[in-house]
Amino acid sequence: MSDSQSVKGLVLVVEDERPISDLLRMYLTREGYGVHVATTGPDGLSYARTLHPVAIVLDVGLPGMDGTEVCRQLRADGDWTPVLFCTARDDEVDRILGLELGADDYITKPFSPREVVARVKSVVRRAQHAAASAGPVRVGDIELDPVTRRVSAGGTTVLLTATEFDLLAHLMDSPGRVFSRDQLLSEVWGYAAVVGTRTVDVHVAQVRAKLGGFDIIRTVRGVGYAAEANS
Ligand code: CA
Repeated sequence: MSDSQSVKGLVLVVEDERPISDLLRMYLTREGYGVHVATTGPDGLSYARTLHPVAIVLDVGLPGMDGTEVCRQLRADGDWTPVLFCTARDDEVDRILGLELGADDYITKPFSPREVVARVKSVVRRAQHAAASAGPVRVGDIELDPVTRRVSAGGTTVLLTATEFDLLAHLMDSPGRVFSRDQLLSEVWGYAAVVGTRTVDVHVAQVRAKLGGFDIIRTVRGVGYAAEANS
């Protein structure tokens, strides 16, 4: 079942429940990833800084430091390693989204290890895919360079998460073209609409907030989104 397309690397699993981390280790190892498990928030943060994983599977409820705080501190360092949050409850997702931590994806416990592996592969692929694409693109006052993954709005650098970047890059690749939420889920996130289209709306809102007055994303009511110079 291994996917030859996937780029292997080290996945940091920050999880204090041993049965869960054992399961994740087994499934991720089977996919060809290296796995390191940390069981507390502070350990998770320190391993994230020293091991430079390709992705972090981050539990929210952790001893020592909340998973959200681990993510916040990484982002404050300018570390944009893809983070897949594992939350105990669905309503916790809303709380975490509200914190705007720059997480790349969320999964609610109890989850199937297969689903976690699929999400990890997806965030890793997205983070690495864009780096291999062509030259800079410009729409309106937004310039986006797929190689350096740098985005500027009116000449000022904008910091985006891997997911936010890929979403904006995808829209900017075809200026004026309207993408449905389901299309964006499948083409940017790499999976079917199982996560719900709210994910798309939330990320679009985050990108818009970061682009501020230079926002180029147009909402097409009842359809989806497009990148346009005069939006
Ligand atoms: Ca926990």
